[in-house]
Amino acid sequence: MHSHTTCSDGTLTPAELVMRAEVKNIDVLSITDHDCIDAIEPSIEYIKQNQLKLNLVSGVEISTQWHGFEIHILGYAIELKDPKLQDFLSKQRVKRIDRAKRIGEKLAKKGMADVYPLAMKLASGRIISRTHFAQALVDLGHVPSFDQAFRKYLAKGKGAYVSAEWATIEQAVEVISQSGGLAVIAHPARYDMTNKWLRKLVFEFSEAGGVGLEVGLSRLNPDHKKFIVSLAKEHGLYSSLGSDFHAPNKWTELGRGISLTEECIPIWTHADWRTIDLSEGQTL
Ligand code: AMP
Ligand code: MN
Ligand code: MN
Ligand code: MN
Repeated sequence: MHSHTTCSDGTLTPAELVMRAEVKNIDVLSITDHDCIDAIEPSIEYIKQNQLKLNLVSGVEISTQWHGFEIHILGYAIELKDPKLQDFLSKQRVKRIDRAKRIGEKLAKKGMADVYPLAMKLASGRIISRTHFAQALVDLGHVPSFDQAFRKYLAKGKGAYVSAEWATIEQAVEVISQSGGLAVIAHPARYDMTNKWLRKLVFEFSEAGGVGLEVGLSRLNPDHKKFIVSLAKEHGLYSSLGSDFHAPNKWTELGRGISLTEECIPIWTHADWRTIDLSEGQTL
C-alpha cells in the first residue's frame, strides 16, 4: 500500500512496478508517489493491456510541515480527476522546485555547483526529491554512499538542508478527504520524535479528519509498533501497511515483512475504501 515510481523518487517505471507486484503475487498495490499521481493512469493502462490480476488503489504521499517536523500523509482511494487535488499537488510541485534551487545554492556555496544540474537531470522534469540530490552527490563522487549524502548534507539540520513551506496536515487531510479519499499518517515510527510528540501528532491528525496510521512497516521495532497500534486503538483509527518501496534491493521488497496485529482494523475495511475499476478506469 506504499510504493514509489520514477514519477517521484522510485527507480522503477509505473509499468515495471506493476509487473513486479504481479510477479511477487501482490493482491493489492497502491502507488503513492511524493506529491504526485502521474504514475496511476499509465499503471491502469498497463494492467489492462496485459490483463493482470493485480488490484490497484489510487494513492499519493503528501509532504506536510508540523512543528518543524516533515510529516508524510498518505491519501488512498483519491479521485484522480479532482481539480482541488490536482491544484494542491501542482502547488506542492512548485514548492519542491523552489526548495531544490535553494538546496542547489547551499551545495554550490560548499563548492559543489555540479550537483544541482545533475539532480534536476535525474528527476528529468518529474517530481524533484532529496533522493535525486543524494544520487547526484554519490554519482559525482562527493560522498561515498547515499546514506552519507543524507547524513552529511541533506538530512534535517545538515549543511544543505532547506525547510520547505509544505502544506499543513489539516490542508493535506482536507484535500484528500474532499476528493473522497482516506488520509493515513505514513511511517509514524520514522519521524525521530518522542512518544509524547507522536501522541500529539496522532491526536491532531485525527481531529483534522485523518482516518488511519501506517502500522505495518518492515523492520519496525516491536515496542514502537505496539505503541502505534495503541494510538490507533485509542483514536479509533484504521491501520494500513506498506513497504515504502522505492527500488529493488536486498532490504526492501514489495509486500515483504509487513503485517498488522489482531487489534488493528484494516484500512481496507473502511466504507470509503475503493480499488480502481479496471474495466472502466474509474474508481468504483
Ligand atoms: P523529499 O520528499 O524530497 O524531502 O525526500 C525525502 C525522501 O528521501 C524520502 O522519501 C526517502 O525516499 C529519502 N530519504 C530520506 N531520508 C533518507 C535517508 N536518511 N537515507 C536514504 N534516503 C532517505
Ligand atoms: Mn521517497
Ligand atoms: Mn515518506
Ligand atoms: Mn514513501
